[in-house]
Amino acid sequence: MASYLDQDSVRQGHLDELIEFLRLPTISARNDMSVMEQAADWLMRRLQGLGAETRLLDSPGFPVVYAEIKGDSDRTILFYNHYDVQPPEPLEAWTSDPFEPAVRDGRLYARGSDDNKGALMSRIHAVEALLKERGSLPLTVKFLIEGEEESGSPSLPVVVERHRDLLKADACIWENARRDDAGSPTMTLGNKGMYSFELRARTASADSHSGKANIYPNAIWRLVSALASMRDPNGRVLIKGFYESVTPLSASDEEICRSTPANGAAQARKLGLETLVPGNDDYAVNRALFYTPSLNIQGITGGYTGPGHKTVNPATAMARLECRLVKGQDPDAVAEMISSHLVSHGYPDIELVSKKAGAWPSYTATDHPFVQIVQAAGAEVYGRPVVILPSSPGTGPRFVFKHVPEMPIVALGVGHADSRAHAPDENIAVEDQFLTTKQVARIMELYASAG
Ligand SMILES: [Zn+2]
Repeated sequence: MASYLDQDSVRQGHLDELIEFLRLPTISARNDMSVMEQAADWLMRRLQGLGAETRLLDSPGFPVVYAEIKGDSDRTILFYNHYDVQPPEPLEAWTSDPFEPAVRDGRLYARGSDDNKGALMSRIHAVEALLKERGSLPLTVKFLIEGEEESGSPSLPVVVERHRDLLKADACIWENARRDDAGSPTMTLGNKGMYSFELRARTASADSHSGKANIYPNAIWRLVSALASMRDPNGRVLIKGFYESVTPLSASDEEICRSTPANGAAQARKLGLETLVPGNDDYAVNRALFYTPSLNIQGITGGYTGPGHKTVNPATAMARLECRLVKGQDPDAVAEMISSHLVSHGYPDIELVSKKAGAWPSYTATDHPFVQIVQAAGAEVYGRPVVILPSSPGTGPRFVFKHVPEMPIVALGVGHADSRAHAPDENIAVEDQFLTTKQVARIMELYASAG
């Protein structure tokens, strides 16, 4: 396998091609359809060049590219990636132009290099390598490439729903992961789900003089006491039923919590803290990050805090919150629980307003055979063990495949701990681009021959 991808001319060609693709300013937040169509067209032509059947999937948003290459077997891997990027601002914080890729000291700097064009090209180049070396693919591959991920993938659920059969696969390689602080390659097996909401308190038709604070209720007091009823000082959520459906950890999950470096003390120090909320030991930090749901207050507004002095008793207050959800939880059910909590704790007047569509958690079992294949391929190519991260602490659209819970979804990428995704000077190590390409090719070979 190694020979094709090790040729200098092939490496240079792959790097040049990635640079060409990075020049397209595919910023989904900007709503510029023409550049998104240009990128989708670039990808379609590139994949057609490999012999893929391609099409655009009908979508209400930016073009969604689908491509398929039949292999020697029906076993199928689906690659999910995105061609859109985050806005580059603030521009003055970049050392070089975000859309004029530059290589310095072995690193490639450009918006999208880590998230997600480097990873996307590693899939395409891995497929190309197998075709060059073997003449055909050992298994079937499908590509699903969207252009709205950095804007929250608003169209993806409907696109996947419409094309369920087309997108069927035995395993999925997801868009991105990075080397950890110690430089070990990682793979991420999940995303947390999310339920976002507001709580609105209104205690009177208008604000009043604070001299009457003993006779008129205060909306901010009302709101903060409702909030205080929902979580204890240690972070335990007090909403009835909140933890009931959480899937218990398997022996493999427990082992990963024990053995994955979390650097709790170092993380605490970075923020000027003595200890993190769950404590500083690896097991506690990992368990909290990977497997524990949370209830977070994002902000509170109400009353007067401007210049001078205003003795007012506010009639309205609002808090914005979110729950991050783990395996087994359902955002719709959580919304119901919060609503019941408000009523049963004496706050039926506080209005619960759901924000954004709920996101479901998505977790692939840490002991799944496909996870072992990805790990073996990574260890072989990188020459060091691959760290399994059972879940990203964040939320993503993996849940669009919740109708096929048996399909393992494993995220792999080309970044490192200082890749600065979403920030100025986003970069990857050029060598990591080549290593991940080899890893993806090796995964296809190993998975094709696995029982
Ligand atoms: Zn991404």
